[in-house]
Amino acid sequence: MNILLIGSGGRESAFAWKLSQSPRCSQLFIAPGNAGTGAYGTNVNLKVTDFEGIKAFVLANGINLVVVGPEEPLVKGIHDFFLADEQLKSIPVIGPQQQAAQLEGSKDFSKQFMQRHNVPTAASRTFTRDTLQEGFDYLATAGLPVVLKADGLAAGKGVLICLSLQEAQQELIAMLTEAKFGEASSKVVVEQFLQGIELSVFVLTDGNTYKILPEAKDYKRIGEGDTGLNTGGMGSVSPVPFADAEFMQKVEQRIVIPTVEGLKQEAIPYQGFIFIGLMNCDGEPYVIEYNCRMGDPETESVLPRIESDLLDLLMGVAEGNLQEKELKISDKIAATVVCVAGGYPGEYLKNKVISGLDNVRGSVAFHAGTGMQGDEVITTGGRVLAVTCLQNDMFTALQQATLDASRIYYDGKYFRKDIGFDLI
Ligand code: ATP
Repeated sequence: MNILLIGSGGRESAFAWKLSQSPRCSQLFIAPGNAGTGAYGTNVNLKVTDFEGIKAFVLANGINLVVVGPEEPLVKGIHDFFLADEQLKSIPVIGPQQQAAQLEGSKDFSKQFMQRHNVPTAASRTFTRDTLQEGFDYLATAGLPVVLKADGLAAGKGVLICLSLQEAQQELIAMLTEAKFGEASSKVVVEQFLQGIELSVFVLTDGNTYKILPEAKDYKRIGEGDTGLNTGGMGSVSPVPFADAEFMQKVEQRIVIPTVEGLKQEAIPYQGFIFIGLMNCDGEPYVIEYNCRMGDPETESVLPRIESDLLDLLMGVAEGNLQEKELKISDKIAATVVCVAGGYPGEYLKNKVISGLDNVRGSVAFHAGTGMQGDEVITTGGRVLAVTCLQNDMFTALQQATLDASRIYYDGKYFRKDIGFDLI
């Protein structure tokens, strides 16, 4: 089979690594990919939202399956684009259509969906510019801290946790009337603060049945001890020790089944990954968010634990027979440490030559923000590399991933040395 994988981050590197291992994979193309994905397939210089360019490539290269990594093309309707085109409609796309991608693209949509299907989540209400006064009234009774969320995509920055009523009121005004996050904050979800510990659960569905993939925990803050600014993710670990069988049973019964059944009841087709961001509040799971794709850097820890053929599972999604496919999960522990550019998540250094990649022995260095300059690999993004190690025990996995991250060099390199050690 010829596969086109869309995206360019560490997540797509992990997908490319895993898909290229499938005996069913003849040719793998990655659009646009990065300096590392070329080791698993052929990079194609196309933007992830250039649907016409993607169409031309798919038709010219006999592509049989399209796998979409990031949310942007999904929220912009890449799957719908394929279905609406006579020449493309028979080519399966892994990733939901635009309507279902609203589970990620609109927090108001996802909260209403959860409420309709009794999926446990924080109490909330949504406000617009016209209902600002009602928003103030709600804030006055909501308790503190209180969470304000821009409805639309805001690159992970649209969520504010406010400690005082005055701060919450000011932020609500800024979001609704001063377009603090542009169009994304023309609606704001005001939500109860949940106290607990976060983890991510991943579901693959063909719209009818589902498989629960390995869960993971990610580390969002830039600083050790989970301090400082939020980032796209500084590391991840899978499995998550506190997600024991009893907890995961609750997740399946109270969240996964109602979510998949809810989509079915509402006749919302869904073929792809559902990423469920959860809060474990004293052993009870609550949904913080849905995403319509895999997480990054969770994917880098999740996929190495899947022993089955990922392409076979994805074809199960495409052909609607996922139930018949085997999902074998390794008992091993995967740990991922992300190396970032100096300055990240603020203004960061770019175009720095990377060396030492050959020194990585016990781990896989998944490329994220990398590119080629002549023969040299250079940094091109904030998150540069995700170093993943799979081992029998968590301590060795964490230690080896951290050690291998330290063996890579580029000017300004930074990584957290404490990823996962809180779980031991
Ligand atoms: P991401 O960048 O992870 O996609 P996002 O912008 O889509 O984030 P959320 O995931 O909804 O937004 O929230 C971001 C973070 O804010 C969460 O990972 C969590 O740490 C915190 N958060 C969100 N909602 C709540 C809540 N109700 N109670 C406590 N913390 C919350």
